Amino acid sequence: MTERPARYGFQTRAIHIGQEPDPHTGSVIVPIHATSTYAQDGVGGLRGGYEYSRTGNPTRTALEECLAALEGGQHARAFASGMAATDVVLRSLCRPGDHVIIPNDAYGGTFRLIDKVLSQWGVEHTPVAVSDVDAVRAAVRPNTKVLWCETPTNPLLNIADIAQLAEVAHSAGAKLVVDNTFASPYLQTPLELGADVVVHSTTKYLGGHSDVVGGAVITSDGEFAERVAFLQNAAGAVPGPFDAWLTLRGIKTLGVRMERHSDNAERIVQALTHHPKVGMVLYPGLAEHPGHEVAAKQMRRFGGMVSFTVHGGAEAALRVCANTTLFTLAESLGGVESLIEHPGKMTHASTAGSLLEVPDDLVRVSVGIEDGEDLVADLLAALDQA
Ligand SMILES: *Cc1c(COP(=O)(O)O)cnc(C)c1O
Repeated sequence: MTERPARYGFQTRAIHIGQEPDPHTGSVIVPIHATSTYAQDGVGGLRGGYEYSRTGNPTRTALEECLAALEGGQHARAFASGMAATDVVLRSLCRPGDHVIIPNDAYGGTFRLIDKVLSQWGVEHTPVAVSDVDAVRAAVRPNTKVLWCETPTNPLLNIADIAQLAEVAHSAGAKLVVDNTFASPYLQTPLELGADVVVHSTTKYLGGHSDVVGGAVITSDGEFAERVAFLQNAAGAVPGPFDAWLTLRGIKTLGVRMERHSDNAERIVQALTHHPKVGMVLYPGLAEHPGHEVAAKQMRRFGGMVSFTVHGGAEAALRVCANTTLFTLAESLGGVESLIEHPGKMTHASTAGSLLEVPDDLVRVSVGIEDGEDLVADLLAALDQA
């Protein structure tokens, strides 16, 4: 089955690639290979290609093969978190004196890593609105090695044109990296649009159940893949076998979940639009969203993330966050349960005072897969109290 993944549809790949029944026992589900080391038949006589679990583990391999197939890439590597994956990509691509272009509303942790850690090692960066291709082109320098992109962005749901950014990056001799966490490979496959590398926080939609933290790097560039594999082993930020297993288990329902997340988000967007207490509703599925056309071109649907501003400033936004019942006040996103948060005080607090600061009347919801009418009623009740 692994030889010709392109033949299969998305859900078939999610359920089968890398996950054949165990040849020794017939176990239909990939076992949790909880072992640090592997018996050798004589020195160097490896039975299944495994010698030590930092370097490789069969449960992790199953996850990596499945992730590669879902993104349409040749190679995937799994990490202990999305930030570990991000760190390895940046350290594989950048040397002191190199320059990185990042979204001006990048994920807060990505911004922190580049601004506070990589800068100490001599890597420069420029935050740019990646939805504006001309602005990105203007930010390119002779030493630009990486164009980093998120689309939709977090938490403002801006849309970047992946195919156009790939052209800008490649004509500058740089690589385009897409953090595909918000869309998931069900909604968007950046490698097929020309991106060189896809990064994921598998903590979010891929895992999908808010029970595991993980990350992944997917690419079809063999040379880059080797550097990622080298750093995965050399630095060692690997997921344990149970984490890999949980993520793989979540992935099996990704397509079904993303359809339902999108259905529920559309209902919520409809209820918030023109609501007297709501200012802007940010959702790429809205025809008036500035990125709608590009999103419609490169995404299958528009996903489960919705942000909106509340009349009455930060206090009103915080009251909405405090007064929902079904939407749990929490960071993170992409799980089956609905979450609500205040980016300015929570996920994006580290951007305060910087160019990347988010509006303080902004609320972000990660719409779960509960019954849509219950979610709408819960949000409307909280808005009543705002
Ligand atoms: C959560 C997230 C990350 C970081 O992933 P962790 O698994 O929390 O380390 C990176 N990018 C985006 C868009 C995210 O939402």
